[in-house]
Amino acid sequence: MSYQHIHLPEHGEKISVKDGRLHIPDKPIIGYVEGDGIGPDITRAMLRVLDAAIEKAYAGNRQIQWCELFLGEKAGRIYDGNYFPDETLSAIRELIVAIKGPLTTPVGGGFRSLNVSLRQALDLYACVRPVRYYSGVPSPMKEPEKVDVVIFRENTEDVYAGIEYESGTEDNIRLARFLRQEMGAEFFEDAGLGVKPISPFGSKRLVRKAIQYAIDNHRESVTLVHKGNIMKFTEGAFRTWGYELAKEEFGDQVVTEEELYAVHGGKTPAGKVIIKDRIADIIFQLLQLRPAEFDVIATMNLNGDYLSDAAAAEVGGMGIAPGANTADHVAVFEATHGTAPKYADQDKVNPSSLIFSGVMMLEYMGWREAADLINAAYPRVIQEKFVTYDFARLMDNAHTVSTSTFADALIARITGDPEDLARYEQERRETLQKEREAREARRVSDPMAAMKDSGRQPSTAAGIMSPLKSVPDSTSVAEALQKMRDLGMRSIMIEPDASGQWGIVTQRDVVTKVLGTNASVNDITVGAIANRKLFSIPADATLPMVAEALRHYDVRRLVVEAKGTPIGIVSQTDLIQVIEEFDWGWGLHE
Ligand code: NAP
Repeated sequence: MSYQHIHLPEHGEKISVKDGRLHIPDKPIIGYVEGDGIGPDITRAMLRVLDAAIEKAYAGNRQIQWCELFLGEKAGRIYDGNYFPDETLSAIRELIVAIKGPLTTPVGGGFRSLNVSLRQALDLYACVRPVRYYSGVPSPMKEPEKVDVVIFRENTEDVYAGIEYESGTEDNIRLARFLRQEMGAEFFEDAGLGVKPISPFGSKRLVRKAIQYAIDNHRESVTLVHKGNIMKFTEGAFRTWGYELAKEEFGDQVVTEEELYAVHGGKTPAGKVIIKDRIADIIFQLLQLRPAEFDVIATMNLNGDYLSDAAAAEVGGMGIAPGANTADHVAVFEATHGTAPKYADQDKVNPSSLIFSGVMMLEYMGWREAADLINAAYPRVIQEKFVTYDFARLMDNAHTVSTSTFADALIARITGDPEDLARYEQERRETLQKEREAREARRVSDPMAAMKDSGRQPSTAAGIMSPLKSVPDSTSVAEALQKMRDLGMRSIMIEPDASGQWGIVTQRDVVTKVLGTNASVNDITVGAIANRKLFSIPADATLPMVAEALRHYDVRRLVVEAKGTPIGIVSQTDLIQVIEEFDWGWGLHE
């Protein structure tokens, strides 16, 4: 394709898509838009840092061929007042990967915002924001190093779709009349009205991207964040479609949190990603109190907007948070802050947000070695307190440096020393692994406490049961008692006898049927005293159904079954514990 003002570098090759995956040549042409205000300063710094890291990592065998594209004020100057030239859009589509600085929203230019227009024009439906901590960066958290989450925010639907009707307008009055008269809706007079579209298509393509990312990057879990308890047919549907997609397309690579507790006793099956969900308001609290529980988050537009800024604040704020807006393959990486016009052309501001957007871009391209070199060098510069003014004002005795000097300091510490990299990678892996093991151990030993810690509200029999522990029916009562003691349980399942029936023995049975008859626990088998009249309930029975079954059968415990096989026991005590811990009224939290 030929362009009017865009010059594709002669020595580069374009990125392409083959069999649904990106093919990255060794000298890919990548588009960049320097942006407005502070954009040129931070873009210069970012380009130099990326080039230096790539040179160190690949010794000249790989190299980005940068191609300048134009949007915003610079485009306005070149394209005769057009801030949003078509050929820039065509070039991004053709080059597939681009990175951009912030853009001023032109006043009276006919655009809501250039960024929004860009997302719409290229259907960049997923906004991806990794939030992680770099040692030395000032943070309000006690343990910021536990924050390492990637947020996938849906970019095209929700209340951001722009379907709004202002109070008092003709359209508003027509819609209000329809809603009241035809749909029986009730709301106050003169209310402004907005529509919140959430579709299976929009939800599933976003969740698909999040799960694929988690699998490719060996992440532990994907959390679907929603307010489905209140907005059932939009946010609740997002959750349902998310789980559906996970099962349909990634069935053998994922496990739901429900199955994790119910079928696997809290242990993550090797190599599988956990799919869970949390209510939107709880996640804000949890991200501060227990950030390590969250790894990849997939959510709708509004939740994602709030959540990504709140999470960024935990690890140093917007000056450092990177981001990308992506379609199936086309991806535009960008600083998440604005143009900060008062600092334009002063070589003053922090280039970290754009540099880390560049790191994300390298990871997206599979050039992980170069990305890791920057990740490893960055904390060293910060720890030596070479920082721009924004970090300096939060630190004691910092050396305040300019944007370009910060880039120089970072480049000087990109050593390319393989030992440095290996050490960095190993430290990260070890910390992550330790955290995961500790969480798993807690899920196994004390599932109820683990659920509470992680913000999960159990809602089914499987969610509150104790995993099934059993002994053969020929086991002596003494041995069975010992096993119950070891497991900290008051009952144990007895494996099927000749009649094929499961049974149960409780500590109470031992008292009444053995000790009470002056018999010895060594001489009697559990098979002889087992209670084989068991009542069962399906794993997905709701807690009110469990309560009802306990009442109906007038028993203290029920066997939880999945596809006709016993998988656990749920008792009155379990139910009472849930009520005490989580309150009565499951699913009605607001
Ligand atoms: P802003 O440009 O993000 O600036 C707000 C404040 O954040 C700055 O005054 C500065 O704080 C701090 N800041 C931002 N970037 C920084 C950096 N790299 N290093 C250090 N500090 C940084 O927000 P705004 O003033 O609301 O918006 C200005 C323009 O940017 C508007 O036209 C808006 O539409 C546009 N915008 C564009 C994007 C985008 O292109 N993605 C995003 C948001 C806003 P101190 O003053 O405290 O030092």
